[in-house]
Amino acid sequence: MKSYRVTRDRAGRWHVAFAAIPDPVPAPATGEVVGVDRGVAVSAALSTGEMLNAPGLRDTEKARLRRLLRKLARATRGSNRRAKVKAAIARVKARESDRCKDWVEKVSTGLARRFDVIAVEDLKIGAMARSARGTVEAPGRNVRAKAGLNRSILAAGWGGLVRRLEDKAPGRVVRVSPAYTSQRCSACGIVDREARESQARYRCRSCGYAGNADVNAARNIAHAAGHAVSAREGPRVAGPVHREPQRDLLLVG
Ligand SMILES: [Zn+2]
Repeated sequence: MKSYRVTRDRAGRWHVAFAAIPDPVPAPATGEVVGVDRGVAVSAALSTGEMLNAPGLRDTEKARLRRLLRKLARATRGSNRRAKVKAAIARVKARESDRCKDWVEKVSTGLARRFDVIAVEDLKIGAMARSARGTVEAPGRNVRAKAGLNRSILAAGWGGLVRRLEDKAPGRVVRVSPAYTSQRCSACGIVDREARESQARYRCRSCGYAGNADVNAARNIAHAAGHAVSAREGPRVAGPVHREPQRDLLLVG
């Protein structure tokens, strides 16, 4: 333990974060590859058919948040009341992000334990989030649509999940190109733009395979990684990697 950082979040909670990288989770050595597709409807779909949902706010909490936001809009700038409302909003949001972080830890450990190779789409989430915003001179294209997608991705903790997978399963996370993963049939391999009946449903018009669209994509991701891995004869062993201290490894709140 070489360093730590003390921070105070917007909910007024103090955190002491120690820069300690957890030991990698040992691979099960079954040779099994899992594909993980980031979903919008669900948070993550696995090639095994499992759907993993990040817990968000409960309906009662969402209603409370909406009430607080209305209160905030009515409160006079600089008033005590406004400061109190703001603090209450921050507490609700902190609860949501705590739940998401907890989910990321559990899911990443579970996947690292169960599978030798974990395949994800190479989405460059950070770049996507930045490009959506654009600038005053050059506003981002499709800002509205992308902002919606970004929110969903961020809410699902996708970036955090991939990062933690790489911490816990170093050298066993394979990033594959996202091209066609949602259009390709995971049973026969044909690319069919119109096979996606809806956001949730994939039906191949060539071989008749039908299933959840996110699971179909996850199966394609697993296949792509399987090829990549067999081409280089098994997952490579990770060498030493330089890491930045991370504030959310251990939170004492
Ligand atoms: Zn097919």
